[in-house]
Amino acid sequence: MDKKTVRDIDLQGKRVLMRVDFNVPLDDGKITDDTRIQAALPTIQYIIEQNGALILMSHLGRPQGVDPKLSLRPVAERLGGLLGQKVGMAPAVVGDEIEALAKALKPGEVLLLENTRFESGETKNNSELAEKLARLGDVYVNDAFGTAHRAHASTVGVAEKLPAVAGFLIEKEIKFLGKAVADPESPYVVILGGAKVSDKIGVVENLLNKADTILIGGGMANTFLQAKGLEVGESLVEPEALETAKTLMAQAGEKLVLPVDAVIADDFTNDANQQVVTVDHVPPGWRILDIGPETAALFKNELAEANTVVWNGPMGVFEMPSFAKGTYAIAEALAGLDAVTIIGGGDSASAINQAGVADKVSHVSTGGGASLEFLEGKTLPGIAALDEK
Ligand code: ADP
Ligand code: MG
Repeated sequence: MDKKTVRDIDLQGKRVLMRVDFNVPLDDGKITDDTRIQAALPTIQYIIEQNGALILMSHLGRPQGVDPKLSLRPVAERLGGLLGQKVGMAPAVVGDEIEALAKALKPGEVLLLENTRFESGETKNNSELAEKLARLGDVYVNDAFGTAHRAHASTVGVAEKLPAVAGFLIEKEIKFLGKAVADPESPYVVILGGAKVSDKIGVVENLLNKADTILIGGGMANTFLQAKGLEVGESLVEPEALETAKTLMAQAGEKLVLPVDAVIADDFTNDANQQVVTVDHVPPGWRILDIGPETAALFKNELAEANTVVWNGPMGVFEMPSFAKGTYAIAEALAGLDAVTIIGGGDSASAINQAGVADKVSHVSTGGGASLEFLEGKTLPGIAALDEK
C-alpha cells in the first residue's frame, strides 16, 4: 500500500483540489471544536508553500439537498483566521460559476467549496458530479481519512479522474494502521473494549492470528463473561453474540484475556452505589460499568513487554467520571510504553484526550469507522483510489 503523497508530485502553479474532513460540530452556526480544521493545516500550508492554488472540499453533517444551516461558510472564516490569509467561500459545490472561481484562483490562494453533500450525487458516487469536480483541479489530494471508507464522488469518483495523492493525515494513518495490520513488530498486544462485541468481531477475527495477546474490556467483555457461564446481572450483554464469543474464545485460547474484576453499580448513573467485585460475584440487579483495579494491573502487565499496541474501545463508561478509572489506567499505561502505540475509534480518541496523554502515544487515528474497517483488514475505497508510488 505504497501510495503517492503530496511530496511525490509537483504542485507549483497547479490547481490542487483537496478533500478534507471539515465535518466540525456546530452550535447555532458557531464552530464548537476546530480540531479537524487544525488537523488539516499541515497539508494546507504545504500546498500553499509549494505555490499551489488550493481548492478545498468537505462534507458537513447530513443535509438532504442544500441546507443553509450546514453551510461551510463558518469554516472558511475560521480557516482564514488560522492561516492568517483570506479563504474564499464558493456559493456552491460545482457549476460554471465555481469553475470560473477555480480558474481565477492564483498560486497560494485558497477557496473552499460548499458542503459536498448539498449535491445528491456525492454519496452515490455519481460520475457526472465527479467529472464536474475534476474540472476544478489539475491534481487531487485526499486528506480526509474519516470518510476514506465511503466511496463518494469527492473521495473516489474524482480520484479516478485526476492524478490522486494522499495528504499528510492520510499518509500517517496508512503508516501506522497499515503497519499494525500488515507487519506489526511483536510482541503485539491488542486491547478491545467499547460497547458491543458485534462492532468489533471483524477486528478480533482479523487480528487474532497477528496479535500475541488480545485484552478484552469494556461492555464487550460482559458478553464473553456470560458466554463463559458467569452471571453478569444487569450488565450490557448481546445475546445474539454469545455464540460468536464462544467461538472466538475457543480459537484464541490463552491469547484472549478477560477481566478478573469489575466496578459494578446498581444503576446506570454516575452517582449510583458502586463496588469492586471479582467477575464471578456480580449480584443480581447490578451491572458492570468499568474494569476493576486487578484487571487494570493484569492488563498493564500484559502490555509491559509489547512492541506494538493497538487500542480500540474504552474499558468502561468513561463518560461518567465514576467509571473512567479503568480507561484512564490503560491510557496512562500506553503513554508510558516504549512501543508503537495506536489508538483507533472515535470514543477511544476522546478518552485518550480526556486522560491528557494523546501526545504520548504514537498515533491517534482521526477516523472512527474508517480505522475500524482498516483494522478489520478491509480495503478503504478512498485510499485504494489514490495513485501507487
Ligand atoms: P470507539 O468509538 O472507540 O470504537 P465504541 O463506540 O465501541 O468505542 O464504545 C464506546 C462506548 O462504550 C462508550 O460510550 C462507553 O460508555 C461504552 N461502554 C464501555 N464500557 C461499557 C460497559 N461496561 N457498559 C456499557 N457501556 C460501556
Ligand atoms: Mg464509538
